[in-house]
Amino acid sequence: MNNRLYSKGQLLSLEACTGCAACAEACPAVAASGDGRLSGFYRLDWRRRAGRAGWLRRLLGGRPPDGEEWRAFSETVFRCTLCGNCAEVCPAGIGLKDLWLNLRQELVEQGAYPAKVDMIREHLAQSRNVFGEDQEERAEWVEDLDEPPDDLFVKERAEVVYFTGCVASFFPLAQQIPIALAEVLRAAGVDFTLLGEDEWCCGFPLLGAGNLPAAREMMEHNLAAVKAKGSRQVVFACPSCYMMWREHYPEAGLRLSHATQFLDGLLSQGRLPLKERKLTVTYHDPCDLGRAARIFEEPRRVIRALPGVELKDLADNREHCLCCGGGGNLEMIDQPLNAEIARRKVEQVLATGAEAVVSGCQQCLRTMATHARRNKLPLKVMDVAQLVRASLDI
Ligand code: SF4
Ligand code: SF4
Repeated sequence: MNNRLYSKGQLLSLEACTGCAACAEACPAVAASGDGRLSGFYRLDWRRRAGRAGWLRRLLGGRPPDGEEWRAFSETVFRCTLCGNCAEVCPAGIGLKDLWLNLRQELVEQGAYPAKVDMIREHLAQSRNVFGEDQEERAEWVEDLDEPPDDLFVKERAEVVYFTGCVASFFPLAQQIPIALAEVLRAAGVDFTLLGEDEWCCGFPLLGAGNLPAAREMMEHNLAAVKAKGSRQVVFACPSCYMMWREHYPEAGLRLSHATQFLDGLLSQGRLPLKERKLTVTYHDPCDLGRAARIFEEPRRVIRALPGVELKDLADNREHCLCCGGGGNLEMIDQPLNAEIARRKVEQVLATGAEAVVSGCQQCLRTMATHARRNKLPLKVMDVAQLVRASLDI
């Protein structure tokens, strides 16, 4: 037991749970697995009982859990997408998502965690990216542009740094996002640079794996790399990188924007030449961009600004948007559960009748596109940056 990992407020919040089970009803992992032990309600109850000590344990009885019980409990904690829907609906206002991160850290310190967590840590320690790939290949996607620039978008100094993130840098399907965004930034005349091999993982997967100390090393490196470019602004197409920088990096006087905010700005300044393109789309609010960062309107403004593009909202949208299954390292820990959450999500997407689902996150793109492709569904899956690129009149 390690209560020092929790703030006083968090420890008190363990006692604030009324047992209403709203978190269980809102949880995509519970819905997809039918297993109530994946709910916030179950975890809080278990952790509260496990945490009893001294006079409280003598008064209320029970014995502390043994190592095997902690390991079984950890299975429920890591089978979670960190979507934050439980925190969104909790009537007691318990900060459940932050609790899950601290709980993961506690479990890792106790040695009670799924074996795949070690793989994430090893990849990041050795290669500085979540896939264990060679860092020199981090910006190789630039060569896939129709007209790659001579400097491959890696400049000595620039006004803006485009922080690409691991998934979009290395995963072929997701590489379409930086390719599109780089072309849009170039069309708008933005003075931007990539960090190239000096871009390390933002550290978020380490936080999700319960390893904050290792994440700090990543943060310090990335901050120094941005400062070396003399940049005042950093743009992210990955909501998890964006939130990691916004919530966990030390304050450094940098302006941080998600790509949808940046594109919204470029469009409102009339910096992008657009052509008409008929397409009906629906928009999926990524958990880290919507519920976590509260960025709901900018992506919708961008979509509506594109001539000929019609937006149909999902039945569950904005802060109530259903998770796609792609977060919380769940894909590595329980792939069938990840796939079932994606199936349920795509079912709701198809019900809108839209030709394409647009998101603002490479992990949502990967998750939904993989499901659509495996099941031969007539659905385009794309990022907002790709949608804007396709409407560029260049
Ligand atoms: S963060 Fe999402 S997946 Fe995890 S317990 Fe809460 S609702 Fe369920
Ligand atoms: S929604 Fe909040 S109060 Fe209700 S059971 Fe879940 S954690 Fe407890």
